[in-house]
Amino acid sequence: MKVLVCDSISPRAIERMRQACIQVDVQDKITAEELLQVVGDYDAIVVRSRTKVRKPVIDAARNLKVIVRGGVGVDNIDVDYAQAKGIKVLNTPGASTHSVAELTLAYLFALARPIVQATLSMREGLWEKAKFEGIELQGKVLGIIGMGRIGTAVATRAAALGMIVLGYDSRTIGPAPYVQMVTLDELLAKSDFITLHLPLTDESRHMINAEMIARMKDKVRIVDCARGGVIDEDALYDAIRTGKVAGAALDVFENEPLTDRKLFELPQVIGSPHIGASTHEATARIGDEVADMLIAMNRDGC
Ligand code: NAD
Repeated sequence: MKVLVCDSISPRAIERMRQACIQVDVQDKITAEELLQVVGDYDAIVVRSRTKVRKPVIDAARNLKVIVRGGVGVDNIDVDYAQAKGIKVLNTPGASTHSVAELTLAYLFALARPIVQATLSMREGLWEKAKFEGIELQGKVLGIIGMGRIGTAVATRAAALGMIVLGYDSRTIGPAPYVQMVTLDELLAKSDFITLHLPLTDESRHMINAEMIARMKDKVRIVDCARGGVIDEDALYDAIRTGKVAGAALDVFENEPLTDRKLFELPQVIGSPHIGASTHEATARIGDEVADMLIAMNRDGC
């Protein structure tokens, strides 16, 4: 079996696959054009979120049997098209849950207490004590949109901080500990903080738009560690400028790498370059699951 690793995964996973006599080529900076040229040689490709596997790549992939996405969202892969051609698409859905939940908590704290802005100010040699008064999370209402693995993990942690947790999901969710499931309208109207944990789909694209933001509480703070594109970034920019939204923390963006930097001209916006799953532990778990799957599929053996 020949595997092309297009985005970086743990060295241990690569070593394990090689020990199982899988030929593993690592090209974790491969460009879209290069991938088109070489993909035909491989039985399997491994991607994370950087590499896009769209129709032209799938058409060029004569021998491909499986695309493994190390991580959750498969929106960088044309899944239906691949499956129609008999190519399996697998992912590692649970491997990054704790990491993304913890980043979300970090952002809730950082939106409540302006530690990022204060650090930047101190770096300039300033001592702006009065400027950096924050708010407490304790007693505030957190609205979670998307109550799957990560949303649920955020809920338990936020409840432990004394937050009142409201959840909304497009599917019916059974009783969830620490969470009151409500309608989207109720969540928007009551939440001091809103965090997104849903996939990017036709339905969720620009779900958080000007009209939705207008239905939120004044001075709401928003976290997106799910997918860029769920928030209409222009609408968010306008709402921060008017003061309707008091702060936003963004790990994901409509276009990645980020090209339009205007959101980051606003001091109320903090963010990171899609690092939700970038922890030592999640990387190891993702790698192990990817290796397990491909070793199980390697019928050639040693
Ligand atoms: P999950 O499938 O367990 O949960 C997603 C939930 O969203 C489901 O309960 C689903 O019913 C709900 N949902 C779908 N469409 C909805 C809609 N229109 N309105 C309301 N709810 C809707 O997924 P998860 O593992 O919890 O991951 C959640 C998100 O986090 C995904 O978008 C995933 O891609 C993203 N993610 C980001 C990072 C990162 O690096 N920032 C890492 C891992 C996952």
